[in-house]
Amino acid sequence: MKRPVQIVTTGSVLFLGIALFYQFQVMPTPDRTSLSSLFLQTANAAENRPIQHKAVKALKDRDVYYPGSEDLAPDEMRVIACGTGMPNARPKQAAACWVVELGNGDKFIFDIGSGSAERISALKIPYDYLDKVFIGHLHSDHFGALGDLWIGGVIGNRIKPLRVWGPSGAKPELGTKYALQHMEEMFTWDSASRLGNVDIRGQVLEVHEFDYKAINQVIYNENGVTIRTIPAIHALDGPVSFILEWNGFKFAFSSDTFPNKWWLEHTQGADIAIHECFITPGDLVEKQRWTPGAALNVGTQVHTSPAQFGKVMSQIKPRIAVGYHFFNDFDTLPHVEEQVRKTYDGPLALATDYMVFNITKAEINVRMAVIDEDIWPQPAVGKKLPPDASKRIGFSDYIYGGRVNYKEVVDEIYSDINKKYGTNIPAPQ
Ligand SMILES: [Zn+2]
Ligand SMILES: [Zn+2]
Repeated sequence: MKRPVQIVTTGSVLFLGIALFYQFQVMPTPDRTSLSSLFLQTANAAENRPIQHKAVKALKDRDVYYPGSEDLAPDEMRVIACGTGMPNARPKQAAACWVVELGNGDKFIFDIGSGSAERISALKIPYDYLDKVFIGHLHSDHFGALGDLWIGGVIGNRIKPLRVWGPSGAKPELGTKYALQHMEEMFTWDSASRLGNVDIRGQVLEVHEFDYKAINQVIYNENGVTIRTIPAIHALDGPVSFILEWNGFKFAFSSDTFPNKWWLEHTQGADIAIHECFITPGDLVEKQRWTPGAALNVGTQVHTSPAQFGKVMSQIKPRIAVGYHFFNDFDTLPHVEEQVRKTYDGPLALATDYMVFNITKAEINVRMAVIDEDIWPQPAVGKKLPPDASKRIGFSDYIYGGRVNYKEVVDEIYSDINKKYGTNIPAPQ
């Protein structure tokens, strides 16, 4: 019987499905013993030696990165994606955030978008080393988790000030200084509540605002590391991109930008070039459920679409091009890759959270990190001070009068802890 042409594809899949179903139904099911002995025979034949059950050793090569388990070589750089997504939250991808670790021990955070603080915590780096943040622009998906790092870092044992660099804006109230001053004000109650209760030296916020129009200007120069800024073109005046140079390595990070002349001129030949590569306009309509007009405008004019990203990379020729800023799923990644490959055929990684790049002069190794969900902070780098109780604001008589002390229970907790740690801290009366 002749089949209608239009159902051939579906028909073939259906036929394959039926064939597999039939095979499983009619094949006698071998019992466990015969299956495993078949496997053993094959393995023995392949390796031509007896199986050494007692000789299971740790493997030399790791396909993944376990945070906190590898030293960096003095001439090595490690870059970790701690946020590769969008302003709308999702469990799989936080918004923009990249951690850069250098072989000299220095560490830097580039952008700290919403949701990224928990990714940073998973790296098992003491918070005292996570004290330098560079913000490319003031969209929530690029600095929304700054408050989490700032305050959470204090609770997580940071005793050094948090230093933040970010651009000015067309008006003072559109700049980083204004934003962070108001963030501090927003957390007035939070900060006040911690006085006299914890070591608050890490609560100091040092803000360095620089001119967003500056071209290739040095904004950081310490310990052999130079960070420069170039203007970016995105949404409003103010956004910038960053270039970090150390030990002959060049790291370039776009934050968000439309393709621009400054990036093309100053990021040439970067060892790693991380540039936004927005979701395709087609998927902005299909998955994000935007109108075609909004998808085209935001997807190609406010942001850099994958095909535009490819053009940029084919001009600057980095050792590895990294695209981020899209929801990276099984059904969106092929569309992004297809568009990028229309205009760029060089080394490419389309990032998702916890992608790790180890960069040396000889090679670039790209892996995924395997993280510990049950994360705890590392100790401070210096000695923590006991809280200064004289700074404590405390309660009004009205609220204090509502306390139920359970004195006998608390006295016992104090006594147990004093015994265990050899301290002599009196229980409050
Ligand atoms: Zn943005
Ligand atoms: Zn963004």
